[in-house]
Amino acid sequence: MSSARNDADVPDGDVLEISLFGPGYGESILAYTGEGDWLVVDSCVTSDRKTPAALAYLAHIGVDPSTAVKLVVATHWHDDHIRGLAALYRACTSARFVCSQALKNEDFLTLSKMAGERSLMKSSGVDEFNAILAELERRRGAPRWAMADRVLWSRGGAVPCKVWALSPSDGVVTRAFRSFSRLLQSRGSPKKRIPAPERNQGSVAILLSVGSKSILLGADLEAGREDRGWAAVLATHAVVEGKSKIYKVAHHGSESADNPQIWTDLLLDQPIAILTPFSRGNVHLPTESDIQRIEKRTRYLYSTARVASRRARRTTGSVARTKREVMIRSHGLVRTPGHVRVRMNIHEPLGRVDLYDGAISLGAACAGNVA
Ligand SMILES: [Zn+2]
Repeated sequence: MSSARNDADVPDGDVLEISLFGPGYGESILAYTGEGDWLVVDSCVTSDRKTPAALAYLAHIGVDPSTAVKLVVATHWHDDHIRGLAALYRACTSARFVCSQALKNEDFLTLSKMAGERSLMKSSGVDEFNAILAELERRRGAPRWAMADRVLWSRGGAVPCKVWALSPSDGVVTRAFRSFSRLLQSRGSPKKRIPAPERNQGSVAILLSVGSKSILLGADLEAGREDRGWAAVLATHAVVEGKSKIYKVAHHGSESADNPQIWTDLLLDQPIAILTPFSRGNVHLPTESDIQRIEKRTRYLYSTARVASRRARRTTGSVARTKREVMIRSHGLVRTPGHVRVRMNIHEPLGRVDLYDGAISLGAACAGNVA
């Protein structure tokens, strides 16, 4: 990680911390839930040594992932979220592996294995998935299958913590099963990419509550309608005990993953919104209009990296930030994943946002202490 990082201290037992890394390639979330327990959601890697960004940060602050990480979650099966996930899971020897129930299907596992043997889909994330399956077999463990309203992990005591899955819905899981069956019937061996189950609708959005604070991690869940996506989450909201102060914005800020009710029903006023940009071909997320839309909802909007669809237009804020922006402009692509870190004592209203390795503020507020 950057040698410029000045606060490498391990957070206290009653502190909540969320780190968002991206895009080396993709995004990864590392959450500290207090009491020494960490969890990782998705993975991205540094471009030099292919180290998972979450492991590099834990090493930097002196935390041993083999005992400290309790949960490793794959939100969905897209390669911008899964790079390095197998290495990460192997390092987190006491963690439970979580993935979407939309993948829980014999047909999917068969297809995935066939694809791995034939090495036809190097870039599709199948290799990562197969390596995780092999590690699960070695540990004689089973994944914890995530679906709407299921508790994935919890802890009692002085600083209680609960990790809820908010998706996928029953409807999405059922349709994923049907589509895999059809795919298997239609061909003997897969020659192309295996289509991901209902794309982003099968992805695992998470509600994390620590003491009285809540955090919403939106994965790549699409807005959807009726029994899918955010529409399904909002229709039930069975598990939403309190509104969240921090939001990992769904699907890189894309409009297709936004529903105004997320902001009114699931989030507190002026939440801290964090996102990773996405670029492939001429698809760049978030777009300028995505940023304007989100800015209307909160002044606290942060990105792990410069957004391709806009030039760094703000000159207000810290000198350090301006310097970083200049550096990014002159060097082109960011080499190591950018890092947005939010820390909050669970007994206090104030939180603190820190930006590292090219992360920037896209909203009205700078980094530092936020209400
Ligand atoms: Zn994505």
